[in-house]
Amino acid sequence: MSINNSILRSAGLTDKSIKFLIDENGEFNHTIHNDKHDDTLMLYGELSRFPERCPYCGFPMESNYYHNGTDEVRLSLPSTNGFKQELTLTKQRFQCLNCYGTCTSISPDFIENSKITKPLWKQIFDLAKQDISEKLIAHITRLSTSKVHVIISASASDYVTDTTQQLPNVVCIDEVKYRKGHFGFEILNGNTSEFIEIYPQRDNKSIRQYLSQFSLKNRQKVEIVVMDMNAGYQSPIRELFPNAIIVVDRFHIVQLAMKAVQSERIKIQRELSDKKHNRVYKLLKSNWKFFLKAERNIDTSNTKWFRGVHEYMYPQDALQLVFKDFPNFKTVYDVYQSVLDARFNHTFTPLEQLINNYKNNKTEMDTVIKTYKKYIKGIKAAFENNASNGRLEGTNRRIKQIGRTAYGYANSMNYFYRIRIQLHNKFILKQQFLTFKV
Ligand SMILES: [Zn+2]
Repeated sequence: MSINNSILRSAGLTDKSIKFLIDENGEFNHTIHNDKHDDTLMLYGELSRFPERCPYCGFPMESNYYHNGTDEVRLSLPSTNGFKQELTLTKQRFQCLNCYGTCTSISPDFIENSKITKPLWKQIFDLAKQDISEKLIAHITRLSTSKVHVIISASASDYVTDTTQQLPNVVCIDEVKYRKGHFGFEILNGNTSEFIEIYPQRDNKSIRQYLSQFSLKNRQKVEIVVMDMNAGYQSPIRELFPNAIIVVDRFHIVQLAMKAVQSERIKIQRELSDKKHNRVYKLLKSNWKFFLKAERNIDTSNTKWFRGVHEYMYPQDALQLVFKDFPNFKTVYDVYQSVLDARFNHTFTPLEQLINNYKNNKTEMDTVIKTYKKYIKGIKAAFENNASNGRLEGTNRRIKQIGRTAYGYANSMNYFYRIRIQLHNKFILKQQFLTFKV
């Protein structure tokens, strides 16, 4: 029966007890034309495998049954060459000799009470791992969009986080905006940047609920939690990871200071905007990148061409030109440079002194320093430590992109499910997602 096995393989099925029907011309499939829909490639088969035990009384079925007629079902197989592919299956019915209950033949390739076969489910699942819409998945699998939606929803509602997985010693935590006004919360392995989980809520109560599903013993292994400074969920994190130090993400520390430089520069430009021929104005406007560059990388021994002012100048003279008239800009600039140095040198002391001696000057840096003071321990840990969640940014970009593709998801469960299956690594996927309750 090697031809039977070949048909089985080409249909994506595995159960050798499915016997395909081959007609008098030796053909095993036929094209069914339909005016309204695409053509369907139809296979015909029979299945007469009886269950090991009676599903009603548990009696061993082996030779303790009657044949009790047949059922015919039409099952959907994976699409092939752009065709919808289906199997018309004749299933044997059995009657138990012990309790007279009846049941039909079963196969590991099929899902109980579903027309979707497991190989088709796998095809849908495999497509759902890509950043494509449900509509496109429906087109590829030759199913209706609503059917695909139902299948993905069913899988989404069955999804459970694998809380038995061992947490790494470094985790990164960040919030994720996934829809207007909706923020979730994600957790990543800080050593490998592998995705651990994403959750749809970020309030303290939800965070406690999500993370307490990991055992205390497991959570105690976490030594470092890297997170954003303005995160509101500091207290649950401290409670749930009792042995961890909170490290502020260096990227965010630098970003705050950088924004203060940018805003002060723009403020000065506005003040000078009626003096379009002003050198400081032209210098600031055309060389904004220069004012964000780390000072230690600026070559002070050579002159440099400055756009806007159209002059060759020593970089230190260009800086001085601005500082002379705008001393506050110098203060902001110096703090920013200290932050960059702290990151580069992995030392916190010079920056700490600067933060402690800082005097408010009505620039955006006042607020930044206030924030720094509030999170001083976490910032110190950030610079004296190598953990960072810079890589989270990449994940966040992907999540945003998935959100765009998923535009129109009425169901945020489906959205999270898609994010999860697209971000989890293959190994975890196998364990968590291939359950068949469609
Ligand atoms: Zn029985």
